[in-house]
Amino acid sequence: MTISLPMCTIDFMDNSLSPEEQAIAERITELKQQLGAKLMILGHHYQRDSIVMHADFIGDSFMLSQQAADSDAEYIVFCGVHFMAESADILTDDHQHVILPNLRAGCSMADMATLPDVESAWSEILAETGLSDPINRISPGELPDDGKSYLIPVTYMNSSADLKDFVGRHGGIVCTSSNATGILNWAFERAGPDGAVLFFPDQHLGRNTGLSMGIDESKMPTWVPKIGSDKALKGAKIILWHGFCSVHKRFTVEQVDNFRNQYPDGLVIVHPECPKETVAVSDANGSTQFIKNFVEALPAGSHVAIGTEINMVARLADAHPDKHIECLDDKICPCSTMYMIHPAYLMDVLEKLVMDEIPNQIVVPKDVQEGSLLALERMLSIKK
Ligand code: SF4
Repeated sequence: MTISLPMCTIDFMDNSLSPEEQAIAERITELKQQLGAKLMILGHHYQRDSIVMHADFIGDSFMLSQQAADSDAEYIVFCGVHFMAESADILTDDHQHVILPNLRAGCSMADMATLPDVESAWSEILAETGLSDPINRISPGELPDDGKSYLIPVTYMNSSADLKDFVGRHGGIVCTSSNATGILNWAFERAGPDGAVLFFPDQHLGRNTGLSMGIDESKMPTWVPKIGSDKALKGAKIILWHGFCSVHKRFTVEQVDNFRNQYPDGLVIVHPECPKETVAVSDANGSTQFIKNFVEALPAGSHVAIGTEINMVARLADAHPDKHIECLDDKICPCSTMYMIHPAYLMDVLEKLVMDEIPNQIVVPKDVQEGSLLALERMLSIKK
């Protein structure tokens, strides 16, 4: 399975390291040993093999945020993207340092919701719906008892720290793709029977979760900043921000049909960041951890097509040679920002750490931490 990118060729099924990569891998191993218990390396499922081979924990953003919160390590090197490292910084103590090996590793979906746009949308939606703002009216963990209907903000983990702060200050909560249903139930309880949720930035996760909970699509308008809503806001249950993931929006119904023509008994599993039409014709959908568990449980000889980032699909194929595992999109699209974490950057930050320098530290300002922490801790306290 080989693809060509503008600057390089990547063979996703060839796990052998070049001599240069081998030398880097050996040096990273030495540096890890020198740093010992002071260091914890976290690796997201979408990272390349030559990164995850060094990770102490591999997982989705939910699992990794829990690992960060539970860790005593002085240095937490986060092999993921910027918003994940921010969340780790919020959840860790002041003596701990969170490091992102390449500061340019962002997330295009997270960038689709900015604080000024969300603040402006918040005011407009409150004015148009007549719903109340929960700010200072719902204590953490309590249900409102004043008979009012509220607008509750819910942000996907894939968002900047200042948005999580906004959400925490307005009685809201963070979700991930592995807990979105439980989080929406939490939010609906606080919104009241006639209240609503403002869900951002990913419209697809919000819509797919709402549909799986039996919410009619007519009750889920999409909000586009500076333009407004495509459906009536009054009576809405979930108001969806217009954001999307450029990797997951590539998976289509046509690809599912093509796979099924080839393997009539094959199974299709996709991530809920995919468009609803693709989710509807798939056999299952869920977070990266759900996909991993799903594939592991399949009997030998199964054919399965997976609609998520290619590094994870290739790793699953490698780990299960007794199953036929392929990416749903044969054009194959890695997440370009996850791919910015090159082993050379990881080696470079570890070299500096052994010299007692702290490079590429992610520091969320104190005035943004309070609300963000509230929104993240609400999430971590809820069972899926
Ligand atoms: S896969 Fe999509 S949502 Fe995840 S980091 Fe990449 S662009 Fe962002």
